Amino acid sequence: MISVSDLRFSYPGGEFELDVPNLDVSTGEKVAVIGPSGSGKTTLLHLMAGIRLPQTGTVTTDGVEVTGLDDGARRDFRIRRIGMVFQEFELLEYLTVLDNILLPYRINGSLRLDGEVRSRAIELAGQVGLGDKTHRLSTRLSHGEKQRVAVCRALVAEPVLLLADEPTGNLDPNNTQRVLDILLEAADATGATLVTVTHDHDLLPKFDRSIDVTELVHRTEKPQINADSIAASQVSPQITRMNSDSHRTSQINDEQRDK
Ligand code: ADP
Ligand code: MG
Repeated sequence: MISVSDLRFSYPGGEFELDVPNLDVSTGEKVAVIGPSGSGKTTLLHLMAGIRLPQTGTVTTDGVEVTGLDDGARRDFRIRRIGMVFQEFELLEYLTVLDNILLPYRINGSLRLDGEVRSRAIELAGQVGLGDKTHRLSTRLSHGEKQRVAVCRALVAEPVLLLADEPTGNLDPNNTQRVLDILLEAADATGATLVTVTHDHDLLPKFDRSIDVTELVHRTEKPQINADSIAASQVSPQITRMNSDSHRTSQINDEQRDK
């Protein structure tokens, strides 16, 4: 379902670099992505979804090389085939719970919004305990409720691939179990592949396997050192200080001369 090869990614101007020589996720597999904060879990999910593009390497998802598509085609591909639960939810504030869940149908003309879809959205809202809040604006929801809306939105179009970024991060133990079971059951029902970022190691037995992002190759680039600073570091600290003092003195002289 997902095949990553020779991937190298870094943020513009950033020090973080993620190298993935090879990573495969089979169709129908349920995978947990683990690793400490800042280790690149979200980045890896965004690369799998084609939200971000690597500097080199390829990502093939559901038989499509997403790294070879232009922006519009990638966006289309994502909406039709991938259900994504964003770490920050990405709900639209001016829409109700129901309209947020139905968002994939509003932004992609090839998905047809009919009564059946609407019923499915309402049913999903009920399953996550939001059945009585479908007409509430998303601004008037708690963090945990927003997260559950984000999970429903990822499931509504029955995607072949579910990418969930800490989908239970804001939930109490009961809702954590409930939301995770909904994701796992949805994956089973449709044969979808599920990749879930989680910090909760108690949940790992529910997955087929886990990928520890720290075991992928990371590089933290050192700041660029130019020839001058190498030369400066090779002389004694005293001389370096003297040099900078004399530089400052000559600067002051220049300023005074200008007056
Ligand atoms: P995680 O999800 O594991 O907490 P992320 O994938 O969000 O980690 O981030 C990995 C690294 O990339 C971090 O060091 C983070 O600071 C950096 N990073 C994340 N987003 C950006 C960005 N938009 N620009 C620059 N650096 C970023
Ligand atoms: Mg993250």
